[in-house]
Amino acid sequence: MWKSEWRDFLNGIIDLLYPLYCLVCFKKIGSKEVFPLCSECFQKIPWNIPPFCNKCGRNLPVELPSENICLACKKERHYFDRAWSVALYEGVIRDCLHKFKYGQKLGLINFFEKILSNFIEKFIAIEKFDYLIPVPLHPTKLRERGFNQAFLLAQPLAKKFQKKLLPRVLYRKKFTLPQSELTASQRKRNIREAFLLRNQPEISKKNILIIDDIFTTGSTVDECAKLLKRNGAGVVEVLTVAR
Ligand SMILES: [Zn+2]
Ligand SMILES: [Zn+2]
Repeated sequence: MWKSEWRDFLNGIIDLLYPLYCLVCFKKIGSKEVFPLCSECFQKIPWNIPPFCNKCGRNLPVELPSENICLACKKERHYFDRAWSVALYEGVIRDCLHKFKYGQKLGLINFFEKILSNFIEKFIAIEKFDYLIPVPLHPTKLRERGFNQAFLLAQPLAKKFQKKLLPRVLYRKKFTLPQSELTASQRKRNIREAFLLRNQPEISKKNILIIDDIFTTGSTVDECAKLLKRNGAGVVEVLTVAR
């Protein structure tokens, strides 16, 4: 048998002995597919595609003549310099994030790393950043869940792009209601003064990429950015899996 035939043969046996199932549709997947998703589900990922709003990162239906800023960003000021999101928070991605956060499907981390890395390589000038900072969870929440999803997302990216990860420089001092249950103005009030900065000299004049799972109105990451900027940080951008 040829080398490639041998490989196919062995992969076939592995598939038989250790079948893998797509985490979204539960269909059996072959070893050639992108575990933990079958290729069909992978193709259904609702990517966030350019042109992007240069502030909040939302997809704009058309390239705008002036500076590519969406209407919402023209009306409302953000502290972060720019936000980026890989995909839209719907369909397959919503499913994956839900399973990751609430279903403890931590195997999904490899998948998120892959799509975040691809996005960074395509769109973000990663060399300008000194640090990656994951949005912290309140200690009570952390105890409940057992992990901080933003930290788990940031960790492999820091390693891959050789950036220092600062998971403790921001501290969540206020126990807030889940943002998903609130309106935009309630979200802002809910998250106001929720964070504390622990080591101001460390972030002074440093460029920071904040990492989180979801960007909805942006008020959580904006509150982090406000604190960092007011304490002398340089460029502060935000990267999330979905929005
Ligand atoms: Zn599937
Ligand atoms: Zn915008």
